Amino acid sequence: MAMSSIQKIAIMTSGGDAPGMNAAIRASVRMAISKNLEVVGIIGGYSGILNDQYQPLQLRSVANIIQRGGTILKTARCAEFFKPEFRKIAADKLRAQGIDGIICIGGDGSFRGAHLLHQEHSIKAIGVPGTIDNDIFGTDYTIGFDTAVNTALDAIDRIRDTAASHDRLFIVEVMGRNSGFIAAEVGLAGGAEVIFAPEYLFPIDQAVNQIKSAMSKGKMSSIIITAEGQKSGRAYDLAEAIRKKSGFDARVCILGHVQRGGSPTAADRVLASRLGAGAVEALWSGETNCMIGMNGSKLVKVPFEFIYNNKKENPRELIDLAQILSL
Ligand code: ADP
Repeated sequence: MAMSSIQKIAIMTSGGDAPGMNAAIRASVRMAISKNLEVVGIIGGYSGILNDQYQPLQLRSVANIIQRGGTILKTARCAEFFKPEFRKIAADKLRAQGIDGIICIGGDGSFRGAHLLHQEHSIKAIGVPGTIDNDIFGTDYTIGFDTAVNTALDAIDRIRDTAASHDRLFIVEVMGRNSGFIAAEVGLAGGAEVIFAPEYLFPIDQAVNQIKSAMSKGKMSSIIITAEGQKSGRAYDLAEAIRKKSGFDARVCILGHVQRGGSPTAADRVLASRLGAGAVEALWSGETNCMIGMNGSKLVKVPFEFIYNNKKENPRELIDLAQILSL
């Protein structure tokens, strides 16, 4: 086997957890061991580096986790990491452990931390996109998105049963603070009449007209999907606005954190396995400062800078199509 200057790597999960992170950890650990690398897990994101929370990882340490949601390495938000002096401490601690490079599984916030560790202290770092929101530029999909969409869809199918039985209007709030990727896919797959995504402001009047038009064609129950936007509970404001405009009494269902948990779907396990393994191969061959993403069916390396300097577009077509098909 060819030689690499990398001998010991660390794997961490950071930011919001997402189903499939464990499958990515498993893939990274086993790919690393297949290349005779030593692997440690950092427990609890960047705080784990500052608090010396390391755990050696062997083949069997990652047995029986491919199907489990959450992350065995725990995750955290670490305020200190925004300050350069703490990033220096972290870099010194990584070096003291003999760690040649890190794999950071998380969202774009976590990648900023990894990017700075590289820029300021030459710590080799590769990112793996793990967030249910799917809002990371440079990759078609992020780990956890497919599972979150399927979990939300399952809930919506159930709500549709009761909506249809009582001729009711339901507003279902899905996750997505700044992005409506979950809302768009769930809305189209769940046959929603209207989708409110943070990127595309849909006027309430238009939503009311859409529901009235559906009713005039004999449709007696409707489902509206909204992303949480900047404020969880936004669906209640929407229900009130619709009531004021139309007199319709909409029921609200907020799905919340159930969308974060659960066993990852096959698609997420495959994605996580490919990205987790790809990250090790990248580190091993001397790459740094980039995320391993998915472009069509191919793995791609995307420099960290590209990720922050671009915004991933939420395909408007899905939202428009859902509206046409719900008539
Ligand atoms: P996500 O990775 O899911 O986007 P966050 O944005 O909360 O989640 O970021 C996770 C952690 O990454 C933060 O708590 C912090 O430790 C680190 N981080 C985020 N942004 C930065 C930044 N600009 N500089 C340094 N570290 C950061």
